[in-house]
Amino acid sequence: MNTYAPYCNSLTEFSRWKTRVVNVGDLTIGGNHPIRIQSMTTTDTMNTIATVEQSIRMIDAGCELVRITAPSIKEAENLAAIKKELSNRGYKTPLVADIHFTPNAAEIAARIVEKVRVNPGNYADRKKFEHIEYTDSAYDEELLRIRERFTPLVKICKEHGTAMRIGTNHGSLSDRILSRYGDTPLGMVESAMEFLRICGDENYHNIVLSMKASNPQVMVQAYRLLVKYMMDAGMDYPLHLGVTEAGDGEDGRIKSAAGIGTLLEDGLGDTIRVSLTEDPEFEIPVAKSLVGRYSNRIAGNSIPSVESENGLLKIPYSPYDYQRRSSSAVSNIGNTNVPVVIADFSKKEKITAASLFAVGYNYSVPLDKWNLTDQACDFIYSGDLEIDFEIPGTLGVIVNSEKWKSVAQADRHYPLFCGNEYFSAAMKSNVLNFVAVDLATLTDDFIGKISSESSVVLVLDTFHPHAMAEQRRAFIQLMQLDCKLPVVIKRNYMVEDEEHFQLYSSTDCAALFLDGMGDGVWLKTGEKVSSVAANKTAFGILQATRTRISKTEYISCPSCGRTLFDLQETTAKIRSRTHHLKGVKIGIMGCIVNGPGEMADADYGYVGTGAGKITLYKGREVVTRNIAENEAVEALVALIQEHGDWVEQVS
Ligand code: SF4
Repeated sequence: MNTYAPYCNSLTEFSRWKTRVVNVGDLTIGGNHPIRIQSMTTTDTMNTIATVEQSIRMIDAGCELVRITAPSIKEAENLAAIKKELSNRGYKTPLVADIHFTPNAAEIAARIVEKVRVNPGNYADRKKFEHIEYTDSAYDEELLRIRERFTPLVKICKEHGTAMRIGTNHGSLSDRILSRYGDTPLGMVESAMEFLRICGDENYHNIVLSMKASNPQVMVQAYRLLVKYMMDAGMDYPLHLGVTEAGDGEDGRIKSAAGIGTLLEDGLGDTIRVSLTEDPEFEIPVAKSLVGRYSNRIAGNSIPSVESENGLLKIPYSPYDYQRRSSSAVSNIGNTNVPVVIADFSKKEKITAASLFAVGYNYSVPLDKWNLTDQACDFIYSGDLEIDFEIPGTLGVIVNSEKWKSVAQADRHYPLFCGNEYFSAAMKSNVLNFVAVDLATLTDDFIGKISSESSVVLVLDTFHPHAMAEQRRAFIQLMQLDCKLPVVIKRNYMVEDEEHFQLYSSTDCAALFLDGMGDGVWLKTGEKVSSVAANKTAFGILQATRTRISKTEYISCPSCGRTLFDLQETTAKIRSRTHHLKGVKIGIMGCIVNGPGEMADADYGYVGTGAGKITLYKGREVVTRNIAENEAVEALVALIQEHGDWVEQVS
């Protein structure tokens, strides 16, 4: 079995990775301090009152650190007025200046606010999207140039007690890093390290690090790699977690939880920002819910630890590279099939044809036909309930094994057995049997016996407080014993509302899917969560982890003081025209300075280039510059049509 360097304290026992304490004004980040919540203003930094008032709304909602963009010297200088006005109104919350491309603005801001954020991809580089072959000496010369540009800021921060975030973004790596390391998590880490070495040489350590990406898979791998690197090098800088351009509404929340939550589950992260294309105060409750789960996590029964050798983890998968767990196909589950979605209807009083509307099946009475949406679930679990109508041809029904005996002849009905009960059952399906297990069930003996059953799909449940870790341990156990049966991840959420359900389930399930574990998802909910929400969340988790694409992917920036149009309104307009384009990735970015880089792997880009002006992109290429904003959404639609990615919407 391969061995991998660890990236957290333990894969089985929750504890936070201990970082050094960084002081940001009176706020402390890292060490044993609580995970801090922060956000960023979207107002024009030159509009002091609007920025102050928005900051106050954020702070009143629970924001502990307010970031404000400083694109040039005048905005950097105006941070003093903002700070003063906040103080006059009784608010002492530390401020962070957000810097891209402008060392001169950074050097001013660092004398005014408590923290500066620099992006190593563009602090001293103008991005040209060029691939340049660097000789070692040319590369070293570049590093020297960066050292000259960056050292003055480090000295100012040191002198003024200002903290710094070295914030790498996947979408804005420098051409130099891209040329040598590619568009990779390793490139992201190296980008930060180049700057960190300069700080180290100046004996300046009041630093927080981030590795953001819009793709949670890239983001999670980059942070893990960063921690591994820091562990090797004896470093302990606090981590600021975030998924960039996560979008709005349900998509933004699910994607953020997938990336941020996965890392929090392993005890990584000292401060977080949830980037939503919404007013920044709405990010705060989401961030609080994500973080709140870890403040008092009870230990629960101990989960068997994973083996290690010479400090390396002996595990059957790489936490640094995605590879789906190898499994055999049983019916439409496992192997190369996309993960299935199972809707839990077992607590309904009766299941009717209308019940299926909530999970993507619309029955047309005049046509006597089922219409499927792109988010039609694959199975429903009916428990002991009977179904007395003809089910859609693509749907399966999972029934408790006792009940199943009486409906075994019905179309596509399959039994659910409870662990060892499967072996003694007199009646089994020839096609597909679901067997419920948890980590305790998965003894060597059980796995040895069940692995040869070619019609079995395991349904992996858990009731452990550190549930994701227990389920991950179960996958490790199955992989170590070479069990190839497909596994559906089952979780129960009796929570107070749909938002908590969405955030918790996305954290827990995405953390497994991002490591290639899981051939299906089954989310059981209480009465506070509708079947519609449960189904949409299940598909959302698969979309966020890129394991099953069922809708358009929007990579929209949260907006900031650089934004050149109403991002929320525009995103809503673009969404209303394109939401049916399954699998198409559309970047919606507020400014030309960062937008094109941050769009990452979007297929099409809609980027603000001036007041009322939009530039459209196909991939990384500019297609049309400076279109009038009122014509730009239709021009985007035309561009998508031209490239053959358009389909008409089925009403
Ligand atoms: S891409 Fe959006 S959030 Fe990023 S700098 Fe531009 S306007 Fe601000």
